[in-house]
Amino acid sequence: MNHLEQLVGEWLQYKGYFVRLSVPVGKRDRGGYSGELDVVGYNFRSGHLLHVECSLDSNSMERREQRFALKLQRGREFIAEVFPGMDLPETVDQKIVLQYPNTSIREIAGAPVIPVRELIHEILEGLKGTTPSSGAVPSTWPLLRTIQLTADAFCSGAVGQRIVPITAPDGTLDTAEIVAVPCVTQSGYYVFVARPLGYARVHLANCKHCRGGLGQEGQHKTGSGATEWLGPFASKQDAIAQMNALKPKNGNLCGHCRP
Ligand SMILES: [Zn+2]
Repeated sequence: MNHLEQLVGEWLQYKGYFVRLSVPVGKRDRGGYSGELDVVGYNFRSGHLLHVECSLDSNSMERREQRFALKLQRGREFIAEVFPGMDLPETVDQKIVLQYPNTSIREIAGAPVIPVRELIHEILEGLKGTTPSSGAVPSTWPLLRTIQLTADAFCSGAVGQRIVPITAPDGTLDTAEIVAVPCVTQSGYYVFVARPLGYARVHLANCKHCRGGLGQEGQHKTGSGATEWLGPFASKQDAIAQMNALKPKNGNLCGHCRP
């Protein structure tokens, strides 16, 4: 089992699914199995039956179509074996998680493709409002728990003691300032508007000038009249459309975060 299967399995369990991983299916008469299903989950409450195939491959599209068509077919054929005795829905929802997708590929062999980046966004969205001290992910799901710790740490921006000191190229200890990484739980796009100036800029949520619509740290602009942040918007196109609708004299994309 690879880390993607583990992560998807933990995420589904966190979301209330009964999950089985790397399940061999299709027992053959002469021994062995037809293959295995990476992640299978069933949500008793919603009745959602899910089969997810995860892959780290960097195969051509043609090869992927062939491989996944077989895997998905196997899922549809054998999923009832995974939960014997259970009254399962007629149809199984099938998804493919790829670590190295060509971002233009949204579907393979009829199943939606979820690039791992989007999976991480889904998880961060799902963990929103939880912290390691309130609503901690149980330690039995270590990957999910680590994502929660990471999201929390990025939001604090704190820089302090280190386990491994920073060293300069010549091997001596380096005392250079460590720059905090922007908050990863702030996602999407925002539009900054200074209406009296006819000025507008589209920013990434985690831009240091935006900070999820809070604006620059410690800065309270005066003199340009009423300013505001619009958003978040899910896509850059949405943010640009919103900005253009205001007909600003000076509307553009932020030159710092380059959305
Ligand atoms: Zn920006």
